[in-house]
Amino acid sequence: MNDLSNTPSFKSCSEQPILKERGQREVFCGLTGIIWLHRKIQDAFFLVVGSRTCAHLLQSAAGVMIFAEPRFGTAILEEKDLAGMADAHEELDREVDVLLSRRSDIRQLFLVGSCPSEVIKLDLSRAAERLTKKYAPKVRVLNYSGSGIETTFTQGEDACLASMVPVLDSTDEDQLLLVGSLPDVVEDQFLKTFELFGLKNVKTLPARSKNLEPKIGKGTKFILAQPFLGDTVEELSKKGAEQILAPFPFGAVGTTAWLKAVAEEFNVREDIFESVIAAPRARAEKAIEIARKHLEGKSIFFFPDSQLEIPLARFLTQECGMKAIEIGSPYIHKGIVGPDLDMLEIGPTLSEGQDVDKQLDRCRESNPDLTVCGLGLANPLEKEGLTTKWAIELVFSPIHGYDQAGDLAGLFSRPIRRGEALKF
Ligand code: SF4
Repeated sequence: MNDLSNTPSFKSCSEQPILKERGQREVFCGLTGIIWLHRKIQDAFFLVVGSRTCAHLLQSAAGVMIFAEPRFGTAILEEKDLAGMADAHEELDREVDVLLSRRSDIRQLFLVGSCPSEVIKLDLSRAAERLTKKYAPKVRVLNYSGSGIETTFTQGEDACLASMVPVLDSTDEDQLLLVGSLPDVVEDQFLKTFELFGLKNVKTLPARSKNLEPKIGKGTKFILAQPFLGDTVEELSKKGAEQILAPFPFGAVGTTAWLKAVAEEFNVREDIFESVIAAPRARAEKAIEIARKHLEGKSIFFFPDSQLEIPLARFLTQECGMKAIEIGSPYIHKGIVGPDLDMLEIGPTLSEGQDVDKQLDRCRESNPDLTVCGLGLANPLEKEGLTTKWAIELVFSPIHGYDQAGDLAGLFSRPIRRGEALKF
């Protein structure tokens, strides 16, 4: 395992140029974020103002809500509604009225914009203001865009969190804020670790409900749990909060570096830090070792999807011995993924954005052992004989922290083992 106290002995990826592509892209839109956000924020409702396509996307991607009353829905605006904007606003108000009178558990309502040009013309921020006045203080109405024209896949969460920050109350109290939605079980593990460090005032964004939401101000130090939150970082900074920059908590090395950054910021004693992390770190290293046998020396190619690509490539190359050929990401925000880039050895192509045909050519030519890509590309590539991993699974699975490190490595080793078995 690499010693974090040492500066890497190699030249890092942060020193190499980035291939910027602005062609056709194959990525989900930001509406996808609703699938994990509605589980995380338990008193919220996400009302997509959109078309039947949006409703289909949500229903098929989140076909899991059979047993519970769903906390998302689509207000489908038909062409005739859109002929007159005044009518469209009235229609929206009516939908919200029906929803809120039926569902007394809703405390936060998000109006989520989508693609059709008529929807874009609808001023959802004005609608949110109007509806907030009408339903305050019981329900707060906010808006953001999940449109495929403006957002990719994980940017929906960024837009959602960024819409919340300006309305949060202010405080000058010293506190740690954990930013980015994580499965509850993983979030609880991190909160427990911070508690063992002796940190008393730790909050999360998003909070699980409105009454638990954080206040923000000059004493707030925040650390990102997800790398796709550029706009949220900006909003938090506007409120005086300060970012703790760190590699993302994937694997044993990444998690240690991430926790260390927090510990240093809050002056946690070295012996306390070591005693808290020693056992889980050892467990993580052992679990990674098992998957490493199948990953070592294998090559990997990332198509841009979730913005998790750079931190995951850091984990797979540094801790699992893989060789990255290309690391594509929809956006490369050095103010967020800089520490991971510093830990990645120079060499792989770093690409930002997408020109899908050109990228497919590069992928075929390099013939990687594993390709991480969206659902739309996976099947054709598998047919051509390449082994693939769906990027969306990485967003839906618990992968952060020590206790998930083995599972994370397993998500990559399983398709490789399957691919190898099929070749016999
Ligand atoms: Fe499609 Fe746009 Fe609706 Fe997303 S927001 S499902 S890209 S129409």
